[in-house]
Order: sequence, then structure tokens, then C-alpha cells
Amino acid sequence: MKGQKKSPERMCLGCRTTHLKKDMIRVVRSPDNVYSVDMTGKSLGRGAYICRNEECFRRAEREHGFERAFKSKMEAAIYEALRKEIFKNEAAPEKS
Ligand SMILES: [Zn+2]
Repeated sequence: MKGQKKSPERMCLGCRTTHLKKDMIRVVRSPDNVYSVDMTGKSLGRGAYICRNEECFRRAEREHGFERAFKSKMEAAIYEALRKEIFKNEAAPEKS
């Protein structure tokens, strides 16, 4: 039986735990093979989720989680670009 709507949850590619979708970062591969960070959660394409945590991102990279999720090879430069996009705020230098 279908009860009340549950908040959607997704599994993190890094730590493999499920969290509320809205607390996670969605990386999406568009139909023309462009990877991007989906800030709206509505972009078209195949999506993969990670925690808002750089360690999870690095782990997903190390364990090829994104490649498994997208069923396609990802170059280091793509990881680097995504990482910068996701963590640019967190990674801001403390002093300039
Ligand atoms: Zn995680």
C-alpha cells in the first residue's frame, strides 16, 4: 500500500549512505555528454548524487562511482571541473 509521500532519498556515490535528495548534490550528464552540477535538480539527463562533502566526492572519484553511475569514462579534468564547481564556496581561501 502506498502511504504518505516520503521525502525522496538518494545514495551518495562516495559514502554509500542515503540522504535526503534535497541535501545532496546532483551531477548530471546531459544527452550530449556534458557533465555539470545540477543546482536546480531539474536538468535533463542521467544524474548521480553525492553528499555536500568533498571527502565523498574524492571517494567517488577514487572508486569510480561516477563512471559506474554514468556508465561512461570520465577524464580527470572533468572531475576537477566538477569538484571546483561544487566546492568553490567551501574551498575559498581564508585570506587573500
Ligand atoms: Zn557521502
